[in-house]
Amino acid sequence: MKAIHTDICPVCGNSGLLPYLSCKDYLTTQEVFDICRCSKCGFALTQDFPSEDEIGKDYEAPAYVSHSDTHKGIINTLYHLVRKIALRSKAKTVIQYAPKKTGMLLDIGSGTGYFLNKMKSKKWIVTGIEKSEQARKYAKQKFDINCQDSKYLYDISCRTKDVVTMWHVLEHLQYLNGVMERLYGLVKDDGTIVIALPNKESFDAVHYKEYWAAYDVPRHLWHFSPSDFEHLANRHHFSIVAVKPMYFDAFYISMLSEKNKGTFLAGFVGLVKGGLFFLRTLSNKKRSSSLIYILKKK
Ligand SMILES: [Zn+2]
Repeated sequence: MKAIHTDICPVCGNSGLLPYLSCKDYLTTQEVFDICRCSKCGFALTQDFPSEDEIGKDYEAPAYVSHSDTHKGIINTLYHLVRKIALRSKAKTVIQYAPKKTGMLLDIGSGTGYFLNKMKSKKWIVTGIEKSEQARKYAKQKFDINCQDSKYLYDISCRTKDVVTMWHVLEHLQYLNGVMERLYGLVKDDGTIVIALPNKESFDAVHYKEYWAAYDVPRHLWHFSPSDFEHLANRHHFSIVAVKPMYFDAFYISMLSEKNKGTFLAGFVGLVKGGLFFLRTLSNKKRSSSLIYILKKK
């Protein structure tokens, strides 16, 4: 297997990457991966991750609920219930920060198309990019939305999008700086970029350490704190105009993390702990399990 080894911090360019945590791929192979941390800026990354053309197998786990519509098990049930509320909240956030009421929206990593369908119902002209053929077919059948494969990202004309969204996608993409650069090219000058990422400084991340489900090695390559992401955004000439918490993720991630630890009644324990993390987040939003960053061109 071809592994991608990183020597230089992609956020600050420093060459001192130090071992930080060893995490297991709990979802599929049980293989262990090291997470390294930059000695200068603190950004963390999964070391020696599989290349983009080989990582497909790591997404083929039956437990990868993002692309499934089954209703089995407490975690899946909760996921589907929450998705409805989360979709409404995502749409509201996008519309609040969009340069206009409707326009051209691109969702990168659009999955099965639920978010695009929500935006389409609000009169947005939507396009999706999704690497999974199965998910693209689903979006077409269920919502009549045409999604393109990954190569399409480089076919889109410059400055044509009013909004580009990436919901828990950037942490999966090998060419971090390349994608940020491309995002800058795609949006109009007054356009908005919306990026949701797990937060490695969240209450739940600090509590669960190597069991934290949002390290999700080797699928998650990059592990951001709010300051890491601000650093990267600035480097690409973006300002972060708002940071918003995603409250539900604390519950879902805590339940999965308890499962990773092998806790008895993991779902229940995770739900209770997730609730406690959520309550603490109310007065400290930047320690939310996941954060939504709203970017504008400088
Ligand atoms: Zn760094």
